Amino acid sequence: MLIDGKSVTATTGKLRAVENPANGQVITQVAEGGADDVDLAVRAARASFDKGSWRKASAVHREKTLWRLAELLEENIDELATLEVMDNGMPASMARRAIERALDGLRYYAGMCTKVHGVTSDISGLRAEFHAYSLCEPIGVAALIVPWNSPLPAACNKIGPALAAGCSCVLKPAEQTPLTALRLGQLALEAGIPPGVLNVVTGEGAVVGAALADHPDVDKISFTGSTEVGKGLLHAAAGNMKRLTLELGGKSPVFIFDDADLKIAIPRAAAAIFSNSGQICYAGSRLFVQQGVYEEVLAGIAGVASNMRIGDGFDADTELGPLISEHQRDRVMSYIDSARSEGAELVAGGQRLDRNGYFVQPTVFSGTRVDMRFMREEIFGPVLGAMPFAGIDDVETLANATRFGLGAGIFTRSVSTAHRVARLIRTGNVWVNFYGGSDKSLPFGGYKESGWGREGGIEGIEAFMEKKAVYIRL
Ligand code: NAD
Repeated sequence: MLIDGKSVTATTGKLRAVENPANGQVITQVAEGGADDVDLAVRAARASFDKGSWRKASAVHREKTLWRLAELLEENIDELATLEVMDNGMPASMARRAIERALDGLRYYAGMCTKVHGVTSDISGLRAEFHAYSLCEPIGVAALIVPWNSPLPAACNKIGPALAAGCSCVLKPAEQTPLTALRLGQLALEAGIPPGVLNVVTGEGAVVGAALADHPDVDKISFTGSTEVGKGLLHAAAGNMKRLTLELGGKSPVFIFDDADLKIAIPRAAAAIFSNSGQICYAGSRLFVQQGVYEEVLAGIAGVASNMRIGDGFDADTELGPLISEHQRDRVMSYIDSARSEGAELVAGGQRLDRNGYFVQPTVFSGTRVDMRFMREEIFGPVLGAMPFAGIDDVETLANATRFGLGAGIFTRSVSTAHRVARLIRTGNVWVNFYGGSDKSLPFGGYKESGWGREGGIEGIEAFMEKKAVYIRL
């Protein structure tokens, strides 16, 4: 782990095996941190924050240093993408693209260092002359807790704004995928981020994550993960009223209208659910197709599913990698069983592969209803439920029949339909005639139980800042 600028073993003395999900083999072992390690990391972060080695550095210096970190990550992208594929199983081309996008985001926030500032105000109503202004100040020590489905990008999405804001951090990668976070910590030191400003503690969520959430010297938690754990953090953070940003789960709808260009809609709707084997928070797992093109779209997506090349992420041909773990594979299979037992009709896939590693076929069900369990709960696997709809009047009810609100896709040639439907869906992100992704210049996050707050844009850095009002009587 990385604590106070030093590579350290865990005080627990324990190690945890890290597995390659494509073959179930152990790649390496990493330190299994405990609550004492969290305490050491938080103390280091607090000391660096109080000393001001980063917080008080000039905005230009912080900008240059974060930019240097992005450069170092880019110089090492082959190694980082390789680690990500070994750890997570995703196709190598996807890992690389995701890291490249994350580095764009890191540079966006590097530039933000010199652009966040308060405002002056001509205050009124007080019987004197004043000069009044606001200040933006870093929130303090931030715990950054990330999941396994896109490990390095998820970490970059948090360290970019947190460090640009001037916070000191403790990064906690998922227990399944710690490798790129550890390398990121080393490269951050090399880039010139002072010791103690970015600490990395590996270990189990229920131990390391919970200790961070509980720690009285942590001021902020930025969490990406499941809605269930996110809800638990609300309670855990109450002790010292930690600020929370929560990027949580989804059950996102995709609407294909009769007038859509199906050459675009079919492959994009398939990619919406099958990319990264469905292990994407905004995966388009509920497909609604207008009646006139329903059969054609269903056959098209089933065709894509049946022809996907499944395999090791290192094979250049692979389109669909494994699920992250045996546990996740069994969980996904239980949802496939549940869909069958609730009466959905299997159109494609439905089986796990009989080989080493945790592979499940891309799976499509028709004959679904929005109240079926597999249509309500986040599966986080390559499982799609499809149903026809009559027209725009049905959209609101169907789209919003979920406790989540993270993403939505709309395929239509009508500008009017696109804009109207975008307003009807209670969700943080809408993609028209394509699906997925986000740009750092825009806020990313969820409505309802998909989260609290936003990453990206000015909102992303403000989430790591406090605002102070200063009144001066002249
Ligand atoms: P998870 O909630 O189990 O774990 C996420 C992180 O939280 C891991 O680092 C884990 O170790 C840690 N954790 C687990 N228990 C904890 C606890 N009690 N206290 C503190 N930390 C704890 O989620 P996961 O299975 O790793 O990831 C999949 C989930 O993440 C899905 O629900 C997915 O939708 C969500 N996700 C959301 C976004 C988004 O931006 N909205 C992005 C990616 C993933």
